[in-house]
Amino acid sequence: MLEIKNLHARIAEDGTEIIRGLNLTVKDGEVAAIMGPNGSGKSTLSYILAGREDYEVTEGDILYNGESILDLDPAERAAKGIFLAFQYPMEIPGVATMEFLKVAINAQRKARGEEELKIPELLRRVKEASSLLSMDMAMLKRPLNVGFSGGEKKRAEILQMTLLEPSLCVLDETDSGLDIDALKIVSEGVNALRSPDRSIVVITHYQRLLDYIVPDSVHVLYKGRVIKSGDKSLARQLEDNGYAEIIGEAAETV
Ligand code: ADP
Ligand code: MG
Ligand code: MG
Repeated sequence: MLEIKNLHARIAEDGTEIIRGLNLTVKDGEVAAIMGPNGSGKSTLSYILAGREDYEVTEGDILYNGESILDLDPAERAAKGIFLAFQYPMEIPGVATMEFLKVAINAQRKARGEEELKIPELLRRVKEASSLLSMDMAMLKRPLNVGFSGGEKKRAEILQMTLLEPSLCVLDETDSGLDIDALKIVSEGVNALRSPDRSIVVITHYQRLLDYIVPDSVHVLYKGRVIKSGDKSLARQLEDNGYAEIIGEAAETV
């Protein structure tokens, strides 16, 4: 599904290298967690996967279903079923959330060669997904993310993700700013999306989220590369001992 090979990337504006030889493979149906201290490049990796122009890939490749996506723009990547839920969701003033969802869903369907969704069916799906995420339908009349609380923004992201039915989901710090009830609800939303033909990459700082979204693999990102991979027990180990031990081990082998 997703294969990142020796990826090097820098900030376009000033040439600072942030991603430095990153390797990561995520299989179909796999839920992979990416952890790592602040400033490791986790969010940068999500922006690069999305195809943001402020970053330049200088070496390596990103393969999605065996094909490089480096030449695709963000809309083309989305059309291929890649969905990114960002750490800081963008506010879209002037467009009601419901209208935004309708446009996004139909653009996605068009890209897949499917017909537009009829309004009643669209409403039915939105209602079902909103109720799963305990979201009030009244919120959908408001402009997307404008004035939404941190928790509401994260729910709105998972709502979009649920409705767009992507094949690859990348969630950057979806747990940040969530209280424990919201965390459970959002996690249930993500877990409902687990499927043998969908891969999910969960970027998080804390083990806490991984108590609810139990990952198949855990990868530690540090200074722009994966320095250790393991199963869910690695996340526990990090929670107990912090990153210092693993960073020390990695320093010895470099
Ligand atoms: P993480 O999400 O792991 O906390 P980030 O990807 O946000 O890390 O950042 C990685 C490093 O790259 C940090 O040192 C950050 O300051 C730097 N960085 C990322 N994007 C930019 C940018 N556009 N301009 C300057 N520095 C950046
Ligand atoms: Mg950070
Ligand atoms: Mg980040």
